[in-house]
Amino acid sequence: MSRLFNFCAGPAALPESVLKQAQDELLDWNCKGLSVMEMSHRSKEFVSIAEKAEEDFRELMKIPTDYSVLFLQGGATQQFSAVPLNLLNGKKKANYANTGQWSKKAIKEASRYCEVNVVTSSEDQNFSFIPSFESWEIDSKAAYLHYTPNETIGGVEFFWVPKVDMPVVADMSSTILSRPVEVNDFGLIYAGAQKNIGPSGLTIVIIKKDLLGASLGFTPLMLDYKVHSDAGSMSNTPPAYSWYIAGLVFQWLKDLGGLSSMEVINRRKAQKLYNFIDENDFYANPVALSDRSLMNIPFILSDNSLDSKFLKQSEEAGLLNLKGHRSVGGMRASIYNAVPEEAVDALINFMKDFSLTNG
Ligand SMILES: *Cc1c(COP(=O)(O)O)cnc(C)c1O
Repeated sequence: MSRLFNFCAGPAALPESVLKQAQDELLDWNCKGLSVMEMSHRSKEFVSIAEKAEEDFRELMKIPTDYSVLFLQGGATQQFSAVPLNLLNGKKKANYANTGQWSKKAIKEASRYCEVNVVTSSEDQNFSFIPSFESWEIDSKAAYLHYTPNETIGGVEFFWVPKVDMPVVADMSSTILSRPVEVNDFGLIYAGAQKNIGPSGLTIVIIKKDLLGASLGFTPLMLDYKVHSDAGSMSNTPPAYSWYIAGLVFQWLKDLGGLSSMEVINRRKAQKLYNFIDENDFYANPVALSDRSLMNIPFILSDNSLDSKFLKQSEEAGLLNLKGHRSVGGMRASIYNAVPEEAVDALINFMKDFSLTNG
């Protein structure tokens, strides 16, 4: 049995060494005679796993001490509700940038709790670029500004952070840990784990402590950030096994040299694939050059009647999950941290051969 190259947008590839370590420790963690899956989350063994993971995550992201890190369930989608419920703080409006399908979903959910001021939208141009910050119409009376630094479906990414006089909230589900960010620029960062952190079932929230404690009166207990922060994410049973695997991924990233080293590799991987697509008339990527994602690379074939043949043959060649999102069609290669450079090389070789045979 051999492992193939997995370009899935999520749940996504994990580092092979992490999976091997999890396998080694599956039945008996650290000679304790039981699996991490079977441990009480309040045992000193699990608490040590949890604390080490948080410590390493803080070190990787250089998270200042006036921020809480929460290990939650519910996915990034649950944060679409939790953000307004916790951050409106007596205000009736929130600013949202609409740069893709995930922004849209966040806006739709926030609209149930407040008036959403859409500061900018690229929807009429198929979400193919990020509108420049000068054109954004920020409402200064709104409680916060929400945006999506990497749109997983459209493959557009911000390489800058909006600077405003209110908390900035970022859905970093598909870009977190791919390169360094300045946490101080944000009031709140959230990310579902299944793209660049670990297995699904875990959602990480980084929140500035002075934003805690302002939830609306009817906010469900499990959506209140202060409840989780006060309890060290153990107010109820946390997603313990996913938390443990995330810890192994953090260790893997540290061994690799941290996020600056990861960024060098990620830029190299993405650049290779974009260069190939741009130089070959058979393929095209629709995203503006300056806003192209390092993590999710959508591309179309010049003749879309060949799509199903491309997908069938790529799978036979050991390249999995290249089908584009149902809302955009075409192909998408998600090349998160754990997708090795050889996978990108193999994809390019396959694409080259396919274009020569079918072009
Ligand atoms: C995948 C994704 C989501 C949804 O995540 P769930 O954990 O499935 O709720 C939200 N936002 C972005 C940017 C994503 O990539």
